[in-house]
Amino acid sequence: MPDLIKVAKFGGTSMADAEAMRRSAQIVANDPDKRLIVVSATSGTTNHLTSFCESVTIPEKEELFRTIQKKHTDICNELQHPENVRKKLDDVLNELRKYTKIQVIGAREKDAILSCGERLSSLLFTEIVNEAESGATWFDARDVIITDDAHGNAEPDIKEIENRSAVKLRNLVKEKRVITQGFVGSTPEGETTTLGRGGSDYSAALFAEALNADVLEIWTDVTAIYTTDPRIEPNAKPITEISFDEAAELSVFGAKVLHPATLKPAIRKSIKVYVGSSFHPDQPGTWIVKETSEKPVIRAISLRRNQTLLTVHSLDMLHRHGYLARLFEVLSKYKISVDLVTTSEVSVSMTLDTDVQSAERNHLSEKVLNELRSFCDVNIEKNLALVALVGNNLHATAGLSGPVFGALQETNIRLICHGASSHNLCFLVDETKAEDAVRTLHQTFINK
Ligand code: ADP
Ligand code: ASP
Ligand code: MG
Repeated sequence: MPDLIKVAKFGGTSMADAEAMRRSAQIVANDPDKRLIVVSATSGTTNHLTSFCESVTIPEKEELFRTIQKKHTDICNELQHPENVRKKLDDVLNELRKYTKIQVIGAREKDAILSCGERLSSLLFTEIVNEAESGATWFDARDVIITDDAHGNAEPDIKEIENRSAVKLRNLVKEKRVITQGFVGSTPEGETTTLGRGGSDYSAALFAEALNADVLEIWTDVTAIYTTDPRIEPNAKPITEISFDEAAELSVFGAKVLHPATLKPAIRKSIKVYVGSSFHPDQPGTWIVKETSEKPVIRAISLRRNQTLLTVHSLDMLHRHGYLARLFEVLSKYKISVDLVTTSEVSVSMTLDTDVQSAERNHLSEKVLNELRSFCDVNIEKNLALVALVGNNLHATAGLSGPVFGALQETNIRLICHGASSHNLCFLVDETKAEDAVRTLHQTFINK
């Protein structure tokens, strides 16, 4: 019987090829408490599958199919017992192959197609874990991760996930190591859904919640959560310990290392989260906990790209009630999701996330704009990015904004949000200036 229940998630780079899978399997084999293993697709595969859905010609689709097929059969050929898994891989690949004949792929089919990535990697990984120690079993995440039918970005049904998990998974993980897929879910009617790009972290957290796990581990390609994205600032430092609130803000404001929703289930059940590197498992990672021993004002800096600023202006707003209600009614009708808002007497500015995925939902179509234009002037600015300083007590720290904006004197700051959250201060800049702003702030406040 295991002492603890740990849920461990391995991302795409940790599944990249047979070697990466073996390294990840060793991390699993070294710890009998890792009971449920949630894996991403092999790196690059979800992008290939997305291109497959978007490509309009059959030869393009066939080419992408062959790339995906080769990648996975190559890994299969490196297994000690490829025969154990070949038939199951072929079943998934044959399912994918059928879609090469369909020119225009709808949202439902797209989710079925995207799910093939995680289904393939999890089959191979189960076999690789079994090479290290026998007894691991493959599990279809769609039997537990029940969602609504918002294809591409489905909302999980927490209660139903809990119910299904109690019946199908809780006892199983005590008996065997279970390997399953991240990112993938199902409607109650059995139609495949996905949780949005990067969603495997969220899946793992949902499983951890449903299993009342003691620890959720996220194994990725960086040794820890860093003070900023190390790809932007090579001098970024690993963070040993960070609070749920701070880490949640970091992920919401663009730190890709965690999907923005990952910490919600962990917070609900107070499950400690560990982030570490499957390439360097011995190096210290980050613990995300409820209370940290240190509470620096500025812990880390994040960057969220693809922001659009929508500004509406009308003299009718002056001393009138109900204006904002009317504005948000229109946005709500068209399912436009607004993140930051600043208002003055006669105008309101709002940021919208317009990265590839949210772009479909947050599309400012002529219809939306015309409806807004019927009662205000509308201005749209694109190619902006949001920089966020994340830490503690930022709303109540005197003398903070002077040095922050003083350090960025050369940068045009389009919008500032300060005070709404005690854990962040964020502002909007031109996308081309954003990385420089992050580096300058990192040098001024973190690497000082
Ligand atoms: P996985 O495939 O394992 O889910 P991701 O590519 O989704 O990995 O996330 C890991 C990446 O997140 C890192 O390679 C890094 O570039 C990026 N990242 C962004 N912000 C941070 C940060 N503050 N700390 C660590 N990594 C970050
Ligand atoms: N494979 C999915 C993606 O690339 C989910 C994940 O890796 O988290 O977005
Ligand atoms: Mg990820």
